[in-house]
Amino acid sequence: MIYVCNREGAIVTIPVFKPLLENDDMKACQEALTMGWLGMGSYVGEFERRLRDFIEASDRHVVAVSTGHAALHLALLLAGVGPGDEVITPSFNNVADLQAIKATGADPVLCDVDPVTLSIDPASAAEVIGPRTKAIIAMDYACHICSHRQLQALAGQHGLRLIHDAAHSFGSSHSKMKVGSFSDITMFSFDPIKTITCIDGGALVVRTEAEAEWLREARLIGMRQPSAVLYRNQRSWTYDVSHIGFRYHLANLHAVLGLSQLNKIERISETRQKSCRYYTERLNDIEELTLPQTDFTDITPFIYYVRVQAARRQEFREHLHAKGVDTGIHWQPGHWFSFFKEARRSDLSVTEQIGREIVTVPLHSAMSGKDTDQVVHAIRSFFHA
Ligand SMILES: *Cc1c(COP(=O)(O)O)cnc(C)c1O
Repeated sequence: MIYVCNREGAIVTIPVFKPLLENDDMKACQEALTMGWLGMGSYVGEFERRLRDFIEASDRHVVAVSTGHAALHLALLLAGVGPGDEVITPSFNNVADLQAIKATGADPVLCDVDPVTLSIDPASAAEVIGPRTKAIIAMDYACHICSHRQLQALAGQHGLRLIHDAAHSFGSSHSKMKVGSFSDITMFSFDPIKTITCIDGGALVVRTEAEAEWLREARLIGMRQPSAVLYRNQRSWTYDVSHIGFRYHLANLHAVLGLSQLNKIERISETRQKSCRYYTERLNDIEELTLPQTDFTDITPFIYYVRVQAARRQEFREHLHAKGVDTGIHWQPGHWFSFFKEARRSDLSVTEQIGREIVTVPLHSAMSGKDTDQVVHAIRSFFHA
């Protein structure tokens, strides 16, 4: 069932997002609650191992944390970012990235996105590299993957750390390599609306055991608790604290939900691909619409977006809503927010345009043909197509 109903049970709208929560997910959560070890524990260790296997990164280390925002904050600290430093990221990004940069005391520097992938434009990022630049955060948007090879070359050339925000691309591949397996530092989010959910959760993938060890302490208010002990649902009462830390660990209950979601990632991936391909096939002939330019091969899509003429966007969204189809906006560009309006930036003309045209339409893991049809009909009727 994927509808939001009113009190009388009448269908109101098809929501933009809807987590796939089934009996096995409920059962897994019940088992974790019955076990009674709610904090960092065995399920967290198991989730990290399963994530590492899934992203085919046997030479990397996975550390699970409480949110994607926490993952970004820790990634930046790990990269040595602090007060007085600058971090380059697209203005067209989740505000969590900008806030994570602010949380370290550094300043976000905003660059533009590529007009096709709506992901970071390496040339625009290169333009704003300065003496204070410490890192770049590159984010794969919706169903696109950014030019990672070009970005790695750019970061290498300037001695910068490269943080890969893969909140949208969990389960996707890039040149046949799984996202998470090839970047300097990768972060994932498993929040309520992401492709798989831990209710709230995130993860970091790093290259070295020393980096992983620092993260394991930083997520547990700095406590040097031996992970092996925690992963057995035990704890040590004596430990050292040698650096900054936060309460950013993943809870056992949340990890068990992530494990149960991972069991069905193939089905999740396939149904999302199928719905996206159907949208593109049925909407391609509408000249007033710009659709994602991808055939979704090797992609586990997070959202499906369309671009409509800025002047008609509000009307378009209202029409869809009247037809029982909810829509979203991902995103309002960062430099439009009062907190970030002074941020140093490159030319942002693509971002300015995208920010006024972008509309997210419903995409869920297990969407029926009836639902995608309702969305397609609602869109076609707006354009009298
Ligand atoms: C969701 C998201 C985040 C933040 O993750 P949370 O788990 O919600 O904190 C960061 N970046 C992108 C691109 C996201 O979509």
